[in-house]
Amino acid sequence: MPPTGTPPSPLSQHAPTSLDAWWMPFTANRQFKAAPRLLVRAEGMYYHDVDDRPILDGAAGLWCCNAGHARPRIVQAIQEQAATLDFAPPFQMGTPLPFVLAQRLAALAPGPLNHAFFTNSGSEAVDTAMKIVLGYHRLRGEGQRTRFIGREKAYHGVGFGGLSIGGLPNNRRGFGPLLAGSDFLRHTLDLSRNAFTPGLPRHGAELAEDLERLIALHDASTIAAVFVEPIAGSAGVILPAPGYLKRLREICDQHGILLVFDEVITGFGRVGNAFAAQRFGVTPDLLTMAKGLTNGAVPMGAVMVSDAIHAAYMQGPPGAIELFHGYTYSGHPLACAAALAALDTYAAEGLFDRAIELGEYWQTRLHSLRGLPNVVDIRNFGLIGAVELAPRKDAPGSRGFEVFERCFRDGALLVRCTGDVIALSPPLIIDRAQIDRIMDVLGEMIRATA
Ligand code: PLP
Repeated sequence: MPPTGTPPSPLSQHAPTSLDAWWMPFTANRQFKAAPRLLVRAEGMYYHDVDDRPILDGAAGLWCCNAGHARPRIVQAIQEQAATLDFAPPFQMGTPLPFVLAQRLAALAPGPLNHAFFTNSGSEAVDTAMKIVLGYHRLRGEGQRTRFIGREKAYHGVGFGGLSIGGLPNNRRGFGPLLAGSDFLRHTLDLSRNAFTPGLPRHGAELAEDLERLIALHDASTIAAVFVEPIAGSAGVILPAPGYLKRLREICDQHGILLVFDEVITGFGRVGNAFAAQRFGVTPDLLTMAKGLTNGAVPMGAVMVSDAIHAAYMQGPPGAIELFHGYTYSGHPLACAAALAALDTYAAEGLFDRAIELGEYWQTRLHSLRGLPNVVDIRNFGLIGAVELAPRKDAPGSRGFEVFERCFRDGALLVRCTGDVIALSPPLIIDRAQIDRIMDVLGEMIRATA
């Protein structure tokens, strides 16, 4: 049962008198402000809206809150840290927690990914990774390797670096030429061969060979790195066929190209391991993360880099700054405290295993939506799900949005819509009854939209 009867937050005194001044991100501002959907508090698996309706969280907020909301250990850590050391400069000064957190992440991350650079978001993590890659090649005397390979439909955030290797046309258009020289692998979504396949798609491993095409075109000696999301989330959940990522790794190795996994949504248990890299058995040279790193409680991102990359930088005069890059809030004490408490919570509750434990039930219930009107594909892996709807001819994206809105208003369920795909990524603390509820409500709202 949803928790009820919790007293309203003292922050409710800050109820807005107008919604006009905040220009909301990735939102149809005028549409939203005409009929707002406001969440005012959260606990466990539930948000509460302004009417104090419990809203089941089928999205972990925005792929962030893997341990659910308002977890006491995380709340307490942030409160204590704010009262102990709110902020200190991270340039030429240090505080203890980023060192501790980096060590913890090194132990969690696969293979030689033993060094962390902290950022405030996934976008910053991606742009930071791109800069580290360029510097690495230059330090090794291969400064001509400046080209990045991304993938169609990829999302790597909104910095100019991440935009340049991102493959979502709406995000790119209107922002000029972006970084010169980027190119794109073909995406791996193939409804004609893989629709309604439970788990990983059967077909598409051969798409990794597309990298050879780009290498032939540009020459390997110009290519710095390949960036991929092991599972693309923002494009509506696109999964790799078994062998695809492994083959990318092999081709990169053959040609001296670095491989970067953007694990902003796949990290921290979403697919049943700390990182998708481990679940898929492929180790990248750099790995970006954010979101679940702090359970979404304080903004934070990070780039893990391999020993070899780190070692390439740690040369020359010891008084020289090795990387001219960083943020005022890199390794912010509150973010580190939240991250350490989040990692403790994940470990104490065995949450990284939950996606495996619940995976089969999740898959069965999700695929029970097959056959509903307009459902053209269902995809799942770990505790990720997607239901793709046929677009309306005159208004692509409107059907997905309508289902999302109905889920919230009539079904008290938060899902995510990207175009006509309904994406699901609940907190890993979800139980079977709550999985049932997500699928029942979603099914009902898909029917209602037809
Ligand atoms: N990379 C991936 C794979 C993402 O899914 C996201 C956000 O959803 C980002 C980067 C950008 O992260 P942020 O919104 O924290 O900048």
